[in-house]
Amino acid sequence: MVELSKNCCGCTCCAEVCPQGAVRMAQDEGGFLYPKIDTAKCIDCRLCEQKCPLRKPQNTGNAKPPTYAALSREAGVRVKSSSGGLFYMFASSVIRKGGVVFGAALSDDRKTVFHTYAESYDDLAKLQGSKYVQSDLSDIFKKVHFYLNHGRWVLFTGTMCQIEGLRSYLGKEYDKLILIDVICHGVPSPLIWGHYVHCKEASYSCKVQEVYFRDKTDGWKCFGMKLLFANGQCYRSVWQKDAYGKLFTANKIFRDSCEDCRFKTVEKNCDLSIGDLWGAEYMANELDDDMGVSLLMIHSKKGMDLLESIRDSLEIREIDFDAAVNNNPYILKSIKKGSGKAKQRIYKEIRAGKDIETIASKYAKNFNLKKYMIALLDRIGLLGTILNHRNNRSRKNG
Ligand SMILES: Cc1cc2nc3c(=O)[nH]c(=O)nc-3n(C[C@H](O)[C@H](O)[C@H](O)COP(=O)(O)OP(=O)(O)OC[C@H]3O[C@@H](n4cnc5c(N)ncnc54)[C@H](O)[C@@H]3O)c2cc1C
Repeated sequence: MVELSKNCCGCTCCAEVCPQGAVRMAQDEGGFLYPKIDTAKCIDCRLCEQKCPLRKPQNTGNAKPPTYAALSREAGVRVKSSSGGLFYMFASSVIRKGGVVFGAALSDDRKTVFHTYAESYDDLAKLQGSKYVQSDLSDIFKKVHFYLNHGRWVLFTGTMCQIEGLRSYLGKEYDKLILIDVICHGVPSPLIWGHYVHCKEASYSCKVQEVYFRDKTDGWKCFGMKLLFANGQCYRSVWQKDAYGKLFTANKIFRDSCEDCRFKTVEKNCDLSIGDLWGAEYMANELDDDMGVSLLMIHSKKGMDLLESIRDSLEIREIDFDAAVNNNPYILKSIKKGSGKAKQRIYKEIRAGKDIETIASKYAKNFNLKKYMIALLDRIGLLGTILNHRNNRSRKNG
């Protein structure tokens, strides 16, 4: 009998390759999608097992990729992006060549995140910005395949597990396929996100119209959650004080497989990786205006060619891979294990209709005042002075 991986990351490859349509993705208690096999339809061909990216050998290569601090020269692009706006710059160059760009967008009611595609600059806006919720891939791999077969350039962006799922589904290399992964802390629960929006709408008595997970009003380092409501009201909070941000920071909302992610490797089976250059003030201080600096890693010649094609539109410096990882540990490390019981209780309370603020104050008490103060001091330009003073004092004291 077919047995699908217990550590399933929800990439949908098994459901997409099944010749009988016997595998369907169904929600668990947290709203995460897992494959369910219809035994009446299953012919035991085991393609779903064979194609599962979790069963493929792990990439154990240790050659450190060329690593950069980079940002878009277009200030308007960075405002709408989570970091330095590199996604938009790479995506626009693919649109310019008549290509198709795949990425994550919010649904019309803003309660779910799903993968879709853009074929014009205007359409790219919906893919811009991080949505901290696991995105539903549905039948997106078939669409990628369709456009590649029609000879179009395709840029697929997503988490590394989604990219590995796509590669396994396609089963061969395509010259016109570019793969960019977003460095991933872990993917949060769709149930918790949907409930968060529901509770905010109830307390503002209005529908949420726009969501910014990484609002930069107080700077990139002090980013916040911002919601705009249909009647013009606005909710904004620093991430560490927002109910959803608190649950994220307290490690209470991620998919189980993120506790043991096998795709956080030095070498990756994609062309480029993009993320936040946390610690930019130490690694590329001249670029850091607190509006976002991206971390960029290049894994292939195709990736390097794409970078060269847009280099003039970026501010860019080469940096040390190890320094970048030291400031951004989840590049190579999975999140802490063991949040299972708390997550089950949270899901139960959500299903019982408890308010998200009550849930967050119960399960995420650890607002990190130290981290918040460091970011704040940095934003107002005092962090360097304080650190210098401390270093001088410890040197004097021997
Ligand atoms: C769940 C999640 C966790 C992350 N954790 C980290 C981290 O620990 N460290 C770090 O440095 N960076 C992390 N990132 C990446 C970071 O938030 C930015 O997405 C990245 O720096 C790119 O920024 P940008 O300014 O170039 O482009 P942006 O315009 O901000 O990014 C847009 C890109 O993000 C993709 N995207 C958005 N939401 C999702 C989603 N739910 N699933 C898959 N892809 C999505 C879009 O498809 C598009 O490719 C995470 C992103 C996500 C979605």
